[in-house]
Amino acid sequence: MQINCNSLSLQPIIVKSMKVFTTNQSLHFCLASLKTPASCLGFVPTMGALHQGHLSLIKRAIKENEIVVVSIFVNPTQFNSAGDLETYPRNLKQDLKKIESMESLGEIIVYVPSEAAVYGNSVEKEAFDFGGLELQMEGKFRPGHFQGVGTVVQKLLDIVGPTHAYFGEKDFQQLQIIKKLVKMTKANVKIVACSIEREPSGLAMSSRNIRLTTGERSHASKIYEALKITKDKFSDTPLDEITQWVADKFEKDAIINLEYFEISEQLTLQSANIIEPQKKYRAFISAYIRNIRLIDNIALN
Ligand code: AMP
Repeated sequence: MQINCNSLSLQPIIVKSMKVFTTNQSLHFCLASLKTPASCLGFVPTMGALHQGHLSLIKRAIKENEIVVVSIFVNPTQFNSAGDLETYPRNLKQDLKKIESMESLGEIIVYVPSEAAVYGNSVEKEAFDFGGLELQMEGKFRPGHFQGVGTVVQKLLDIVGPTHAYFGEKDFQQLQIIKKLVKMTKANVKIVACSIEREPSGLAMSSRNIRLTTGERSHASKIYEALKITKDKFSDTPLDEITQWVADKFEKDAIINLEYFEISEQLTLQSANIIEPQKKYRAFISAYIRNIRLIDNIALN
């Protein structure tokens, strides 16, 4: 894909103070005043409740682009239940403070749209066909989730018009689906994959972690522990034995309720039966602590 801008130029971003826009018109007006045909525009879409995982994406975007837009928008069409949407953590004031305190890296445009700004008067998801990627893992347990993700990402990319968009490997299936979306729609944007930021215990950072008690949060590190042991076992243990070992590990756990564990080929996300040495594999876990859903994954080879 050809992106015409000074990628990786490491120039400081142009904006001199954090600017927050809630309407498309004001965002476009600002971008028009900053952009040149050669500018790299980095975009980091988020649902807010920002943590170090989000901030690592923003830092990378700042390093690689002259202009950076961070969106904060809790997308209604990707939630499977009204309850989950309702309890999703929101704290705009703190989010803006966190972005603002990244002062050593320069300043940023924050786009906080209303539902109407993103969706107009029809809050509906499109029926995308991502070639089966959307039917694996998360797709099985959250039907329609990736249709909602695809819909909002396409709309946000259209509104912001970035040259580069940053997504975390924490949501690896989402990342692959967005790469597919960009291919399908021939959007002129480079999707940049960013590695998973973890708490010192190993627990993958997530906006949902703040709903865990201190004890649950520390116990939740068992999820990453299982992934690390899976990686150790991967080269010399049959896959069904590893899967059984993980099931047993969580079967006895009174706090963590395993939803799925899968070892999948990285590109198709199809569950692996045999390992082909030239292919890349990942292990994926979804688990609940009470009604709080946690996901994580690890590269195996
Ligand atoms: P969210 O606000 O959960 O929609 O996430 C916004 C972006 O941040 C997505 O691209 C996520 O994959 C990414 N992200 C979330 N948590 C992490 C993490 N722990 N490490 C790296 N990226 C993350």
